[in-house]
This record gives sequence, structure tokens and C-alpha cells, in this order.
Amino acid sequence: MKTLLSLFLSALLLLSGCTQAQQTPELKQYNATFLTLFDTVTTMVGRAPSEEVFRETIQPVHDALLEYHQLFDIYNEYEGINNLKTINDAAGQNPVQVDKRIICLLNDCKEFYTATGGAVNVAMGSVLQLWHETRSEGRDDPLHARLPDMDALRAASSHTDPECIVIDEKASTVYLSDPEMRLDVGAIAKGWATQKVAETAPAGLLISVGGNVCATGPKDETGTPWVVGIQDVDDMESYLHTIYVTQGCVVTSGDYQRTYAVDGQLYHHIIDPNTLYPSTHWRAVTVVCDDSGTADALSTALFLMSQEEGQTLLDTYHAEALWVAPDASLMYSPGFQDMIRT
Ligand code: AMP
Ligand code: MG
Repeated sequence: MKTLLSLFLSALLLLSGCTQAQQTPELKQYNATFLTLFDTVTTMVGRAPSEEVFRETIQPVHDALLEYHQLFDIYNEYEGINNLKTINDAAGQNPVQVDKRIICLLNDCKEFYTATGGAVNVAMGSVLQLWHETRSEGRDDPLHARLPDMDALRAASSHTDPECIVIDEKASTVYLSDPEMRLDVGAIAKGWATQKVAETAPAGLLISVGGNVCATGPKDETGTPWVVGIQDVDDMESYLHTIYVTQGCVVTSGDYQRTYAVDGQLYHHIIDPNTLYPSTHWRAVTVVCDDSGTADALSTALFLMSQEEGQTLLDTYHAEALWVAPDASLMYSPGFQDMIRT
């Protein structure tokens, strides 16, 4: 993996024929924000000799994320692309030929379903759609905000068997054999895409896709780690902790994200497949591990289960976690505290 500096130096040497020692430029930290990816805020931070070089370096990272955004979108169509919406729209009708990246994501999602004992299920789209609709309506018209109808939730939940996601690797097709089933990869896709993009991105970048944070190596040549803040659940201006990350990923699932109020009570977006209601185990769970897709899946999974069950999953994936309990007390996996800065 090339660093921002080495990319710049190779270009410089090609142009001038000068030696590296004579031309070592002073690097400064730059950052960029994008609002066009995954319906969230994406930021990238890194060091470069100039803003222009930084922008040139991160453009391919942005472009790759945009491709994933379009492929994994369940709400919008894009000309010339079969995406997850195309698959959902063809449920019960026909297989859809798709990019290998969709097949790869769905294979991983099926594995996470098994590994998390069914807690994280991307075939729950029909259930999640009911929550999505009432949340959107409730946000637009707070006085008439309502909860999804329980009978409708129960009916939708009988169309969530991941076995009905039929993948033909050779033909590169996906077919939802249950006409009422819909995919929703919101629990995994941002982190998964961030991981894929980070694998080929220059070293020394800190990429955050809606809080799915991934460091592609230390901040500078002396190995300085990045410092990542973990959001306070009650005060969006403060952090519970800041932690050191050199190469790895930090992902949080929280009850303060994508909420709406009904009769003064807040309802969030992570739905327990057993109750079909927002999970109440935790206020937030942060997971740190070396793979962003795994971290994303695990943060959602741990949010939906007891600390004990969560710890067993963490051990399987060599990951660490911070749980914020309903009374706002904090619990840590054994290795988490070693990463804490403040
Ligand atoms: P995250 O913020 O990564 O924890 O993911 C939350 C998103 O995942 C929600 O906005 C839904 O799109 C989706 N989701 C919610 N509950 C579940 C679940 N039990 N299994 C799979 N996806 C879910
Ligand atoms: Mg997640």
C-alpha cells in the first residue's frame, strides 16, 4: 500500500529527476467532507504536501465508495445498474444479474446471520420498511407520529428467511424466492464498503463513512496513531472516550441515530427480530476490529444481545467493544481499555 507521501514523491521524481532527500516536502493535514454517500456524512483526513494533492489522492476513494453506494441502494435506481432495489423489485419474479460485489456482500451477510444467531438479518427488509415508513411520516408530521401496526410487523416477519436469498455465483444472479421478502443491508453495507475501499486506499488516511471509521495506517511517518472519539449518548457535543487507532476500524451502533418520537417516547432504528421493536439492551455499542465490515455487523449484533453473548462473538472475531448500558454506565471487553486515550 502506498502512502500519500510516496505517491507524491514518485510523481515529483519522475518530473524532476531530483533525489528524494532534496525534495522532501512539508506535509500538512487536510480533510474533506462528502454528503453524497450512503445517505450520511463521509469525511477523509490525511497528510499531503498540498490541498490539491490531497484532493487528487482521495478522489478515487470517493469514487469507489460512490459505486458501492449505488450498488447497495435499496431506495433509488441508477441507469445501467442492477442494484439491491432491482433485486427487491424482482422478488418472487426472476433472478437479477448483478455485479460480483453484491454477491460477495450478500454471501457475507448470510454468514453474519448464522454467526449472530439470526440477530443481524438483511432479509428483514419488509419489517424494517414498516419502521422506515412510520419514522419518515412521524418526522414529517410529529403531531401524528404513530408506531407500525403490530399485525403488519408480524406478517412481514414471516418473510425474513435468508434461505430465500438464492445466489447463483456462476450466473452472478440473485433471486428472492419469497415474493414478500425485501433486503436491507443498512446494518452492514457502509462498513463493508469502507473496508473494501480502505484495502486499496493510500496508507495514512482516516476515512469515516457515517461514523464507520477506518484508519489505513498511522497519521505520519513516525507512526503517530489517529485519535477517534466515541460519541456521548446524551450529548452530541461530547465524547465518552477518545481512543488510539493506528490501523483498524471503529464502528458504533446507537439509540440516538435515526430516531423519531411517538407520544414523547423516542424510537430508534435497530430492530430486535424477536420483538420486532427497537432493541432496549443498550444505549450504544462501539466495536473496534481490523475489518470494517465485521465491525459494522458486530456493532449492530452486540446492540441486540446480552454482554455475555456479545463477548463470545467478539472472541470469535478478535474484536473489542464498549457497551453503554440503559443507565449510561460503561462496560468494556478485556482489551478495550488498552486503546483508551482519554
Ligand atoms: P447500524 O447503524 O449499523 O447498527 O445499522 C442499523 C440499520 O440496520 C438500520 O437502519 C436498518 O437499516 C438495519 N437493521 C435494523 N435492525 C436490523 C436487524 N436486526 N438486522 C439487520 N439489519 C437491521
Ligand atoms: Mg452495523
